[in-house]
Amino acid sequence: MTIELSIEFFPPQTAEGIDKLAATRKKLAELRPAFFSVTYGAGGSTRERTFAIVKDIAAEGLSAAPHLSCVGSTRAGIREILNEYRAEGIRRIVALRGDLPSGMADPGELRYANELVEFIRAETGDWFDIEVAAYPEWHPQARSPRDDLINFKRKVDAGANSAITQYFYNADAYFHFVDDIRALGVEIPIVPGIMPIASFSKLARFSDACGADIPRWMRRKFESYGDDADSIRAFGLDVVTELCQRLLAGGAPGLHFYCMNQAALTTEICRRLA
Ligand code: FAD
Repeated sequence: MTIELSIEFFPPQTAEGIDKLAATRKKLAELRPAFFSVTYGAGGSTRERTFAIVKDIAAEGLSAAPHLSCVGSTRAGIREILNEYRAEGIRRIVALRGDLPSGMADPGELRYANELVEFIRAETGDWFDIEVAAYPEWHPQARSPRDDLINFKRKVDAGANSAITQYFYNADAYFHFVDDIRALGVEIPIVPGIMPIASFSKLARFSDACGADIPRWMRRKFESYGDDADSIRAFGLDVVTELCQRLLAGGAPGLHFYCMNQAALTTEICRRLA
């Protein structure tokens, strides 16, 4: 089975991390992903590091998609970044609002991701394929699910080509989201974001912060393993592989892996799916 894959990295902070990521990328390139995306620290904190990794990926002949968030930024600053990517021949971008870093008071000139998408289209026409974020379990700040759907549609109306979801472990949340958004006339692909599970305690902390639900039956089972890393890994691989199987069988157009700069779990899940 050929699965349309994309894989996300974050820009490492150290030279050692950059070397490790190059090795990870080499392994993951064997899965032939459509693109590798690279996150961006809201407020521009990783601007140079994101750019450097994107250039490395492109230099290896692979397709790179930088993330770009607008919070805390000016139009002129974003224009500069878009021009840098254009000059490098980058054709895909993941457009986000981001979250204002603590200590930063100025929200910037573009308030929401739909305004960023509109700005990218106004500045660069059809140069970029624009990916946006989607939230099958709803964005934590959304006033209501209906509001979140309408706000998601604004990004599509502004010119987004495709969406990647926040990670989730409940396939029904994804299927309901897709049904709801199709009922509003939105046709773009909604690619599920998949988070392989390496450590349960880290995942639990992270999920609380970003509003992703870990179902009780999974949480209880992970908790019962305590520090037994092998059991956590084995159970995590089983549940995430089953999730991917259900998503693909139910019509998901591809999978986007939050690989956390590690190759092993993503590779193993894809091996099981093949
Ligand atoms: P938006 O789509 O702007 O939505 C944010 C909130 O505002 C939602 O509650 C929405 O309902 C509401 N809203 C949207 N538009 C309007 C409007 N016009 N009027 C009123 N309300 C509105 N963060 C990073 O910092 N760097 C990254 O690289 C990064 N990559 C990500 C990749 C993916 C695939 C995903 C799913 C998330 C990523 N994030 C990243 C996290 C993201 O920045 C946060 O979730 C952020 O809180 C929302 O960004 P957004 O683009 O979804 O915002």
